[in-house]
Amino acid sequence: MFRLLYIASLPHSGSTLLNLLVGNSPQMIGLGGIDRATTMLVESPEKTQASQCSCGSSVRDCRYWGSVASRLAKGQATGRIDRYRIVLEEFESTYGPTMLPVDSSKIKEPIIDLASAKDLDLDLRVIHLAKDFRTAVTSTIDTKRRKKGTKSPGGYLALKAAHKWLRENGKLERCLKQTEVAHFNLGYEELCLNFNRAFGALCEFAGADHDPEQSLRISESTSHLFIGNRMRNQSEKAELRYDHRWFSRREWMAPAVLMPLVHRGNAKWVYTDSGASAFKS
Ligand SMILES: [Zn+2]
Repeated sequence: MFRLLYIASLPHSGSTLLNLLVGNSPQMIGLGGIDRATTMLVESPEKTQASQCSCGSSVRDCRYWGSVASRLAKGQATGRIDRYRIVLEEFESTYGPTMLPVDSSKIKEPIIDLASAKDLDLDLRVIHLAKDFRTAVTSTIDTKRRKKGTKSPGGYLALKAAHKWLRENGKLERCLKQTEVAHFNLGYEELCLNFNRAFGALCEFAGADHDPEQSLRISESTSHLFIGNRMRNQSEKAELRYDHRWFSRREWMAPAVLMPLVHRGNAKWVYTDSGASAFKS
């Protein structure tokens, strides 16, 4: 039986960072967003194989992705399940059956396909990773203003961002219930504030050993990521950090007052499974 740990989340929820961090644990290896990575390897093999993997090699020469790339280039995959099958087969032959591959594809569609692919014989476990709505809203506003020069009032942007946060996390929650895959809610804040407790709970859910001495420096990760944020090369971002911008801001207060569902979302998605234990003394 194949095994796969899948990170489902909204964009900018720390999934790339988590995927690199699992590479410092003894039994897990992060492979980045497998769905998009394998699609790129099929659609533009030359360009993708020349890009850089987080292990330091090019994708073509990477110890892991090199063999996946050559099989995909031979046209051995016709759809998503075929692509995942190649990824899982190559993972097992490279690392053996005790190691666990971690996928940060984020979106719900691969979960739906993998859960219904009965002939794949896969033990699929999903982490639903979410940020506190105050962090998510404040960071969305800052990104909109910096990258797009948006001039709209902060309260309006906050309501829009909170609405999207509720809607998209709700979609992930419904997908996990409907597909009946094993899942685990993890808050980004729990991970920052009590790493050992939250990550230990994650490892227990994943069926992997947890090393409490695990390094938090993602530059030491053994993961193989070649798309997504180029975080590993940006030393200032290369650590797990609590985002406290909302402490000194007020935009998030608009949804906090006008959209009471955000509090329920925080309780359900952010401060939950591991949260109960993460903040206990
Ligand atoms: Zn690599």
